[in-house]
Amino acid sequence: MAEQKCGSCSGEGCAAQKEDKLQKKMGRIKHKLVILSGKGGVGKSTVAANIAVGLSLAGLKVGLLDVDVHGPSIPRLLSLTNERPHIEKDYMDPVPWSKNLWVMSLGFMLPGKEDAVIWRGPVKMGLIKQFLEDVAWGDLDFLVVDCPPGTGDEPLSTLQLIGPSAYAIIVTTPQGVAIDDVRRSVTFCRQLGNPVLGIVENMSGFVCPKCGEKVDIFNSGGGEELAREMGVNFLGRIPMDPEVVRSGDEGYIYIKTHHESETARALGRILKPILDMAGTLQEGQKDQSGQNKSLPEVEGKNMKIAIPTAGGVLCMHFGHCEQFAFVSVDQEKKEVLGVEFLNPPPHEPGVLPRWVAEQGAKLVIAGGMGARAQSLFTEQGVQVVVGAMGGKPEEIVKAYLDGNLEVGQNVCDH
Ligand code: ADP
Repeated sequence: MAEQKCGSCSGEGCAAQKEDKLQKKMGRIKHKLVILSGKGGVGKSTVAANIAVGLSLAGLKVGLLDVDVHGPSIPRLLSLTNERPHIEKDYMDPVPWSKNLWVMSLGFMLPGKEDAVIWRGPVKMGLIKQFLEDVAWGDLDFLVVDCPPGTGDEPLSTLQLIGPSAYAIIVTTPQGVAIDDVRRSVTFCRQLGNPVLGIVENMSGFVCPKCGEKVDIFNSGGGEELAREMGVNFLGRIPMDPEVVRSGDEGYIYIKTHHESETARALGRILKPILDMAGTLQEGQKDQSGQNKSLPEVEGKNMKIAIPTAGGVLCMHFGHCEQFAFVSVDQEKKEVLGVEFLNPPPHEPGVLPRWVAEQGAKLVIAGGMGARAQSLFTEQGVQVVVGAMGGKPEEIVKAYLDGNLEVGQNVCDH
């Protein structure tokens, strides 16, 4: 294909064209989250990895970019240290972690764990730019960027390159020194014109694995106080949990493997406002015929779809439903074959998703459902649609089969 020129230069390596390429790439990503921290060791990469995995388990398409040039830890946290991205002349494929999550990190390109990178600012900026514009991210719901600590070259380049559409999440610990650093991070984002989605207070109190008592080793609540003082959201606090360290060391992701703990609940609460960002059906999610192309496709001609109900209609809050309607469908003919209402077992964590899967349902369509419940369903092989607006189960399912089910905000946070 002939190279297009901008009109004021010869075309080769033209800065205007490259700018355009970056903007087009970023335009295909609906939400960009840049994870920052005032200082190192506060759990920023851990939080970034758990947010990215949590969003992907909720069925969203996610990219995770590690721009920590000097200490890339994302490949280790996700057990991807031996992976190498596929690189062509003018693009690179990110490394897949699952069918919904793709990862890019300088760590994939270093020959060994002990290899250090000594690069100056402009070179780092060039690399981050390449990661943003030359990686084949495709259409994503979220790009999560894990930045090195502080307000140096990498966070600066990342926010400047992505522009004001990038939301910052600032991770801190409760101690005073860390809190002072956060103040600087908030000011930094404001100077660059990037909104701060909120502050996460990590390692906030220690839950004793023996007696379960929570001990505030450092003063808990500093992050929340600071959020109030600086006029930004407080997204929540995550306790210090030895299991988090183990999951990081052994390369499995905490939020994927632990569901019942206080730490998992805390991560779920932090995910909630982020999931809400993706909750409203955007015009861009409809195809040319007006059909909702964001609805998941389930394989098989005949299958069952589960709908939580109260009084015979969709129950907007998943946790409060009285019965489940199991709607049998013929996907090819787009027909509802029958509806069976069943009483669910007691609403205990993890029980309902297993029971729904045992009834043979491949998809659940709900009004509101918390992030944790969504990931439990996904693990049982049941896909999830949240944000359905109400109505009789067979009407909802027919709309789904016809590709015009309207979904809005996920109204539930538990
Ligand atoms: P950063 O990216 O801020 O440098 P990391 O995510 O690499 O921090 O975490 C630093 C260390 O703290 C890691 O060993 C990690 O497992 C541990 N860690 C992070 N969050 C927690 C937590 N909530 N409880 C216990 N350990 C944690």
